[in-house]
Amino acid sequence: MGSLGPLGCAKALQLTLAVIKPDAVAHPLIMKALHQKILEHKFIIVKSKDLVWQRQDSERFYAEHEGRFFYQRLVEFMASGPMRAYILAREDAISYWRKLMGPTKVYRARYTSPNTIRAQFGLTDTRNTTHGSDSVESAQREITFFFPEFHAQEWMERLEPSFRA
Ligand code: ADP
Repeated sequence: MGSLGPLGCAKALQLTLAVIKPDAVAHPLIMKALHQKILEHKFIIVKSKDLVWQRQDSERFYAEHEGRFFYQRLVEFMASGPMRAYILAREDAISYWRKLMGPTKVYRARYTSPNTIRAQFGLTDTRNTTHGSDSVESAQREITFFFPEFHAQEWMERLEPSFRA
């Protein structure tokens, strides 16, 4: 039998970017609950940092939404206070974190997926507690956006071969 890693199975680890948005960072108990959830679900915290965006950072990150009715509200909110960004690793990290997040719209989340983060802690459709990358390409781009010094390839090369993607 091959060696088992931190997840107890020899599956490849995937990286994702998870962000705790300013509405949640403002509440220490919510932050504690979210950190606990990350650990409970067996994510490896590869890196984390607290940061505050300038409005230009917010505009750059959400450029794809420019022109939509919620865009101004969104970019202002995301630059309104501290955030915490994580690089998380896990088997199927991208879809797993998205599932824990729940639907974008908080009221939909409360009806359809009451155990999700957005259902439990989200305030409005904009102030919805968390962000998670939605594809391998966006995870790579977003990890670089938040952690330009991080080299995913080097990190993967230091893992045991059975955990590499
Ligand atoms: P997600 O964050 O679930 O991937 P999107 O990429 O579509 O969703 O949207 C980015 C962010 O823009 C959302 O997390 C939310 O903060 C905001 N947003 C999206 N749709 C709406 C909406 N209809 N009303 C208000 N804010 C919205």
